[in-house]
Amino acid sequence: MASTPADPDNKLGMFENVKEVKEKYAQQLSEIRSLLTEGEEADDVVVYRYLRGYKFNVANAATALNKTKKFRRENGCDEIRKKAANIEQMQFPFADRVLQVHPHNVLHGYDKKGQPLSLERIGHAKPSLLKKILTHEQLMEYHLSHMENKAALVARLSEETNTVVRTAKILDLDGLSMKLMDPAGIQLLLRVLSTSQDHYPEMLGRLYIINAPFVFQAFWKVIKPILQPATLEKINILGSDWKEVLRANIDEKYLPEWAGGTCKCPEGCIVERQEGYGLTEAKIDARDKLAIEQPVEAARTVVSWEFRTESNDIGFVATFQSQNGEAIPVAEHGLVSSHAKIITGEFEAPAAGVLKLTFDNSHSRWTSKKLFYKVEQVVLPPEETSQS
Ligand SMILES: [Zn+2]
Repeated sequence: MASTPADPDNKLGMFENVKEVKEKYAQQLSEIRSLLTEGEEADDVVVYRYLRGYKFNVANAATALNKTKKFRRENGCDEIRKKAANIEQMQFPFADRVLQVHPHNVLHGYDKKGQPLSLERIGHAKPSLLKKILTHEQLMEYHLSHMENKAALVARLSEETNTVVRTAKILDLDGLSMKLMDPAGIQLLLRVLSTSQDHYPEMLGRLYIINAPFVFQAFWKVIKPILQPATLEKINILGSDWKEVLRANIDEKYLPEWAGGTCKCPEGCIVERQEGYGLTEAKIDARDKLAIEQPVEAARTVVSWEFRTESNDIGFVATFQSQNGEAIPVAEHGLVSSHAKIITGEFEAPAAGVLKLTFDNSHSRWTSKKLFYKVEQVVLPPEETSQS
C-alpha cells in the first residue's frame, strides 16, 4: 500500500499508474470479470474505474458494470463510439440544436495536472426550450455521442500516459435562476446526470463550480442525493476566491475571460448562440418608455427575453402583432422588481410578425433607469408526430 497521504490528488486517485493498479487490484479485477454476465470487458482501466467508483466493493462494481453493458447494448454505444470518437462537437447529432440552448463544450485545453478540461455554462441554458426542440431520445443520442467522445479521449490518454486519466470541468452557474427549477428541465438534467454517473464512472477528476447563486442551494438539494460519495468528493463549490483557485489549477491560457483567464477562442470558448450572451445596455429617461421590436420571420419561432435594471423597478409589457393583423397580448407585468432579480420570459409566435417589448419608466418622475436586456430567437424544428 504505497501511497503518499500528503498528496490530496492521491486520495482522488488522480493519475494512478495503470501497471501498479493492475498489480495491486489483480484479485478484485479478476473477481469482477468472473461476475460479468453480459460478456467480457477488455479494458482493465474501465473495470478499475468501476471498482474505484464503487468504493472497491467487488459485487457492487460487477453489478454496475453488468448494468452498463446492458445499457450499452440497448443504446448502441459501441456504434456511437465509433462515430463520435474522432469528430468535433458540432458534428455530434443534434449539436446545432443542443448548443443553441445549452452552452458547453467537450474539450478546452487541460488543467495543470494534464486532465482534459471542459466548460459548461448552465445558467445560460434554457431547459424549457431544450425539451421543445429535442425529444428525450434525441437528447440522449447527443449526450451519448458527447460521453463516448470523452470516454474515447480519456481511454487514449490513459493508454498514452499509462495512467488512469480523468477529466476536469468548470461549471459556471452565472445567471442560474428559477427557470432551471422547472420540473421537466430538472427531470431531463437528472436523467443526463445519472447516465453519466452510472455508465461512465470515475471519468470525472475535478469539478469546479463557480458563481453559485443563492438559488443553487435548493437545486443542490435535488442533485446531491443522486450523486455517489466518490463523485461528491470531486466537486468543489468555489466561493469568492474562485478566480485564484482556478488559476492555481488551470493555466490562464485555458481559462476563458469569464473564468478569470486570457483565452480568446476565435469562435468563443464555448459555442454559444450567435448573438452571444452579452446584454445590451440602455438608458430610459424619467417619464419615458423604450420599445424594442423583434421581427419574427415564421411560425414556430420562440422568442425569449431577459432583463434587469440597475436600480428600481420598471413597467414591462409585451405584445405580438402578427402579419395578418392579429394583436396578441404576451406579457403584462405592470411594475416588476427587475433590480432585485432577472426577469425572463418566452413566447412562441404562431405566425410571422413583430414582438414588441416595452419598458415603461413613465411612472418615474425624476429617476432614469439603466436597463440590461437581451432578446433571442430559436426556431423550433418541424412538428413531429407525437408518440405519447
Ligand atoms: Zn478558449
